[in-house]
Amino acid sequence: MTELLVKNACVIDPLNRISMEIMDLPIRDGRIVESVSSVADVIDAQGCLTLPGGIDSHSHVCGTKVNFGRYMSPEDMRAGRTARRGKMHVTSGYYVPTTFGNSYRYSTMGYTTVLEGAMAPLEARHTHEEFTATPHQDMMANTLFDGNWAIMEAVQKHDVRKAAAIVAWTLSAVKGYSIKLTNPGGTEAWGWGEDVSSVHEQVPNFNVTPAEIITTMIQANELLHLPHSVHLHCNNLGKPGNFQTTLETFDLVPDSNNGRQTLYATHVQFHAYGGTTWQNINSKAEEISRSVNAKPQIVMDMGQIMFGRTMTMTADGPMEFNLYRLHHNKWSNHDVELETGSGIIPVLYSKKSLVNCVMWAIGLELALLTKNPYQCLLATDNPNGAPFVKYPEIIGLLMSKRYRDEECATLHSGTGQRTVISSIDREMDWNEIAIMTRAGQAKALGIITQGKGHLGLGAEADVAIYPIRCRDVDPSTEYRKVTEGFQKTMYTIKRGRVIARNGEVIVEGANSTFWVNPSVPEEINVADDPEFVKKFKEYYTVRMSNYPVQDVYLPRGKCIRTEAMR
Ligand SMILES: [Zn+2]
Repeated sequence: MTELLVKNACVIDPLNRISMEIMDLPIRDGRIVESVSSVADVIDAQGCLTLPGGIDSHSHVCGTKVNFGRYMSPEDMRAGRTARRGKMHVTSGYYVPTTFGNSYRYSTMGYTTVLEGAMAPLEARHTHEEFTATPHQDMMANTLFDGNWAIMEAVQKHDVRKAAAIVAWTLSAVKGYSIKLTNPGGTEAWGWGEDVSSVHEQVPNFNVTPAEIITTMIQANELLHLPHSVHLHCNNLGKPGNFQTTLETFDLVPDSNNGRQTLYATHVQFHAYGGTTWQNINSKAEEISRSVNAKPQIVMDMGQIMFGRTMTMTADGPMEFNLYRLHHNKWSNHDVELETGSGIIPVLYSKKSLVNCVMWAIGLELALLTKNPYQCLLATDNPNGAPFVKYPEIIGLLMSKRYRDEECATLHSGTGQRTVISSIDREMDWNEIAIMTRAGQAKALGIITQGKGHLGLGAEADVAIYPIRCRDVDPSTEYRKVTEGFQKTMYTIKRGRVIARNGEVIVEGANSTFWVNPSVPEEINVADDPEFVKKFKEYYTVRMSNYPVQDVYLPRGKCIRTEAMR
């Protein structure tokens, strides 16, 4: 039995309606409990800001495309080097660090849970291997179904139960967590050198539209009772005028009578552009936020960009090819057999670029114009919009109008006419930041029941204590204290164990991987379905029997079982 008592913590725990209360947190065997014995280790939080462990609900840190980003940027490997210390690994890299680099940096910032934004089912083993080398964060994998041939055939036949059965088989085979659709239909079209330009355009050779894929998968997701909703990267990412596609996509999402979330739209900043060309691009954040404000069943994340160098990586192959034609820099594209695609391109977001300045403003506008902070979560689509180490600056910008104004004064002079950022007075409070970085993520991902995102009795003791006396700090004027304070915790506690102290990781952790095993009625199970089996016999480079990820790849896997509606 291990016991720990965190004393004098200034706790913000939105899910339990606790806001800046000075209290003690007793912890036993990795869980929050009522009380501990007198022999418990004691940490004095000194009245500092204490939050549930941070959760990143969309980040690219593990798997083949992240690793290819590392291959492509040897120069980045010279940045951010740390030496071996005790059991701590050597790390290197800034925007695509080594797995340990990612894990240690998240730890020192108080983050304890991460959803990998995109895992190709066929390449799942590599993702899981890197999960085990991301030792301090519990991990989950968004599993790509956007260009899946078997799924598109089921969609074409309007067979939701079949689509659900294929999802169930695949998630349990590759130990995935949720359904991810990246540019649905478009990644398959890319295999033919094409793309789709609207949700109602036909995908080549499959006689289905992105709209049909999205609506069928939302129904399949609900049929399987998956903990998370469909996680969608909309069509037409990064194109001027794409806000129309995004609004059309949101209109596809059915009203949910029980208020349950049925769509998670990711990195919406990249999908909120007006105009017709790069010359007249402008912000449509108001239109997008208005739509989300009217639809409680939709949750989005910001996809904020921050200025500087980074690497873009996505399953959206055709988008990356367009980006390559714009920048003529290094470029990689990849097609994943019958499933999806990917592309990788380095970028530099510059204040001299009007387009980049408009993008920067849009991300913040989305967060500030969305009324309910549970509906717009803080993320940069790491590393696409910026490496996650920029989160503290984003928090500062959300909390201080003065900070935003100072930044706006340094941007391209045309930014003001194309955005509304300078007219927004809203300043987020501590509670809203806690929602946008942990409570909201836990709710959106469906992991509150796993003890994540809050500090109530029985919750996992993932705790972040920041050197910020939030009762005495005015974030509006003292935003430097906010951005500095969120960079390094005094203590990051993972399952009741201190893993980082004053910005230094001090022990090697042992994370878990959450995955979902949905059970479906025997009559729709696809394991023996000749059409499904044929895919492996005729097209895949691996046999069906070799496709599933063996348990050995998940030494600390945590299976969540769900039962499909009969
Ligand atoms: Zn992403």
